[in-house]
Amino acid sequence: MDWIQKDLEYIWHPCSQMKDYEELKPIIIKEGKGVYLYDIYGKEYIDIVSSWWCNLLGHCNDKINQNIKNQLDKLEHTIFANFSHEPAIMLCEKLINIIPKGLKKFNFSDNGSASVECALKMSFQYHYQTGNPKKTRFMALTEGYHGETIGALSVGTLDLYAKIYKPMLMDTIRVTAPDCYRCSYGKCRDCCNCECFENVEKALEKYADETCAFIVEPLLQGSAGMRIYPALYLKKLRNACTKYNVHLIVDEIATGFGRTGKMFACDHAGITPDIMCISKGLTGGYLPMAITITTQEIYDAFYDDYNKGKAFMHSHTYSGNPIACSAALAVQDILENEHIIEKSQPKAKYLNSKINEALLQHKNVGEIRHIGLINAIELVKNKNTKEGFDSELRMGYQIYKRALQYGLLLRPLGNVLYFNPPLIINEDEIDKSVDRCVKAINDILPF
Ligand SMILES: *Cc1c(COP(=O)(O)O)cnc(C)c1O
Repeated sequence: MDWIQKDLEYIWHPCSQMKDYEELKPIIIKEGKGVYLYDIYGKEYIDIVSSWWCNLLGHCNDKINQNIKNQLDKLEHTIFANFSHEPAIMLCEKLINIIPKGLKKFNFSDNGSASVECALKMSFQYHYQTGNPKKTRFMALTEGYHGETIGALSVGTLDLYAKIYKPMLMDTIRVTAPDCYRCSYGKCRDCCNCECFENVEKALEKYADETCAFIVEPLLQGSAGMRIYPALYLKKLRNACTKYNVHLIVDEIATGFGRTGKMFACDHAGITPDIMCISKGLTGGYLPMAITITTQEIYDAFYDDYNKGKAFMHSHTYSGNPIACSAALAVQDILENEHIIEKSQPKAKYLNSKINEALLQHKNVGEIRHIGLINAIELVKNKNTKEGFDSELRMGYQIYKRALQYGLLLRPLGNVLYFNPPLIINEDEIDKSVDRCVKAINDILPF
């Protein structure tokens, strides 16, 4: 049997209708370098989605590889209760200088969803222990995404895939998210005063007494189709949460480490959340690791004599894994010494102008929105009415399949195609990617 047949024999792939694999076979990747992936037949693919947004600095980066190899011969893993190790301590010492001011304490886990669960429990227990036991619910934006475990799913959008699990989910208070492309106030992204924030104000007025925290993806609702909203919204949210004694949990899992052109999306708004979740780019996309970071104030509410029962009894076997920490340390080193985020800014402009030039006039391109190197192309049936394609047509998926033939990994979000490349992509690679993307779009939706 060849590799493809064996794969189909054994593997149930994530987020896939496996029947689709009858037609589009699994692509078996053998090697990667920089923005390129190569399959077992030697065919190249430009990884324009950073392998689900986590690959920050390219595949097989020499420095990250070396750091991991060095760590491997010293210590692979240790229990993290009572025990610690230099890589984790050094990592916190690095991160404390780049995270929003006021965040101080680091709670390690091993994936993004787990770090969200940790944040929700932390906020809940804080309120319980500080005289607000009635605060038991969470508030979130519609269209949000925070992961796939039950708690994380509970605070995400109730789409087709989440709805099935509704009987298992918490009763979250959902607030209509900003929608700057189809603004119901008739405003636009750069010319509004976040009039839609009134939805948050109304919800907080009504439900603050029973609400622990508001969880949000800052500036960019990734899974919703790379929906981008103004920094002012986040500023208003910070102020409103403070006013109502509701924690602000900011999920920077997708936006962290330069994806939006600044270190964190929070930096665009100049705010500090009460709890922040990071993962994805943290290890450069090498190893699973996440951190839930919080303030001294929240930490202090758990700090007491053991028998008072206030400790945060939350753990994961692989919390603080030293090999993952060594990868994360290399990432911090590279970001700092190679000025990666600064250097990504002119490239972000270049990429956006290339995409605009090639696609803005296309009859089925409704909006091209961008933040940092992230560019989303929303396909519509009708540009004037902004009416989208029927999801059953699977327009994004058809273009994805075509782009694969041209050597571009352009996995879509419904009818939204997007670029979210490793920050090290160069102009030549940008040209090639845009070229391949345009060819794929024009094949399926002729100009
Ligand atoms: C990917 C993602 C998560 C979940 O992370 P996993 O590691 O896949 O569990 C949560 N929130 C956001 C914003 C993400 O992009």
